[in-house]
Amino acid sequence: MDLITVRETRVARTRDDLVFAPGEEPLGGGTWLFSEEQPGLTGLVDLTVLGWQPIVESEATLTIAATCTIAELARIPRREGWKAHPLFSQTANSLLASFKIWNIATVGGNICTSLPAGPMISLASALDATALVWATDGSDRRLPVADLVTASRENLLAHGEVLRAIEIPTTSLEARTGFRRIALSPLGRTGTLVIARVDASGEAVFTVSGGTTRPRVLRFDGLPSREALQYAVESITEWFTDPHGAADWRRAMSVLFAEELREELSA
Ligand SMILES: Cc1cc2nc3c(=O)[nH]c(=O)nc-3n(C[C@H](O)[C@H](O)[C@H](O)COP(=O)(O)OP(=O)(O)OC[C@H]3O[C@@H](n4cnc5c(N)ncnc54)[C@H](O)[C@@H]3O)c2cc1C
Repeated sequence: MDLITVRETRVARTRDDLVFAPGEEPLGGGTWLFSEEQPGLTGLVDLTVLGWQPIVESEATLTIAATCTIAELARIPRREGWKAHPLFSQTANSLLASFKIWNIATVGGNICTSLPAGPMISLASALDATALVWATDGSDRRLPVADLVTASRENLLAHGEVLRAIEIPTTSLEARTGFRRIALSPLGRTGTLVIARVDASGEAVFTVSGGTTRPRVLRFDGLPSREALQYAVESITEWFTDPHGAADWRRAMSVLFAEELREELSA
């Protein structure tokens, strides 16, 4: 849709261009920005010409630029030992009507929109990814993506701060993982999405998102008992109801999926 309040769209070419006037916001793929009215938005700063390399691999970390598209992420080649690799396509396919926006929507845009059904938030939280944020004073700050998103459409980015990248530890990519998701219709918006991960150290991490207003990461020293896991999932308080699912259904499906994943990863 036309954003009739926007007076100027600037193209950022260096970090110096990332100084935001009141009413100016970063533009990733624009698939959310141009999908509804944006009251108060007077300017956009296009990040996609900054030339950030979409994917950078090092021994310890996989760095995904905020401007990496979801399609590029889904195509990451599998490296030896990356048992968690299927999560890239599983989460990319978790967007409502993924195919319509895959080639344009960015990983950073998905995280910064901070919708409960943001699958890049699910992926990053489940893999203990760190958000690299460019602060307004020119410094960098880092925090877990799971902490960056605080509620539906809310996050810890101040006006003018830019998500530069997410950093996934290789140890998470080498973990055994399992994935479950449900929506009320085949291509519908996520009702709940549960990812389980068991690291080489034995630590087990269950991440619940989609059905909760923010990602919830449940950690155990080893695979928990059925009862302990059920108790932990049922203790989550951030379930919500909207046209894509009722809170009690989201909770019940999350308990079921967590248990299925526990059994799967026990094998
Ligand atoms: C058909 C359709 C289906 C969709 N399905 C889903 C879905 O299932 N789940 C879901 O979560 N979303 C969904 N969306 C919403 C949206 O398209 C996605 O969240 C998408 O990933 C947003 O990415 P983008 O690059 O297009 O973001 P943009 O629209 O460019 O930006 C989104 C927001 O993030 C900010 N932003 C972008 N990049 C940065 C950055 N690097 N640093 C700081 N702020 C930044 C922008 O200022 C804006 O506020 C859907 C949209 C459509 C049209």
